[in-house]
Amino acid sequence: CVCALLHTPLSCLFPSDLAGVRERTLIAVKPDGVQRRLVGQIIQRFELRGFKLVGLKMLQVSEDLLSRHYSQLTGKPFYPDLVKYMTSGPVVVMVWEGYNAVQTSRAMVGLTNPADAQAGTVRGDFSIHVSRNVVHASDSPEGAQKEIQLWFQGQELLNWDCCYHNITCE
Ligand code: ADP
Repeated sequence: CVCALLHTPLSCLFPSDLAGVRERTLIAVKPDGVQRRLVGQIIQRFELRGFKLVGLKMLQVSEDLLSRHYSQLTGKPFYPDLVKYMTSGPVVVMVWEGYNAVQTSRAMVGLTNPADAQAGTVRGDFSIHVSRNVVHASDSPEGAQKEIQLWFQGQELLNWDCCYHNITCE
């Protein structure tokens, strides 16, 4: 591929004018995922699928941040438990970039209730109950934009291309 010589191999597959090629989504490993040492496996799935990590941090979530993140759920009966769960330990929050990142990530994460999530999805492989479902993924491109702005400062997200250290870089 001639693009490999230009240090932009992915542009062979995804011309830069193709809509959605630089779509970003917010993925968070929830406290149960961190406590069960699932962070590495979850990151690996996104790397192997072909997405690019552009932001990553670990933090203890505040109730204020949670109420803004889950603003549509604050009136639900399970919301107090959701707050307890999400503040029970640190979360690892990430921004992944790539073609159709939001929709593909939702498919990789699986349905909200692990009982309905297919094997092969993160929730289908690693969880059994809706209240402890290991991971969060934005559910729409608009939602992703809002969530990324909520969780990350602009300078915490990096635009990077392959440095071409060697022939196995991409
Ligand atoms: P998703 O995380 O798949 O986008 P929702 O936005 O509907 O799903 O819910 C946010 C989170 O709230 C879920 O991931 C889960 O942790 C929790 N949750 C949703 N529904 C329930 C429920 N019926 N009982 C307990 N917790 C729930």
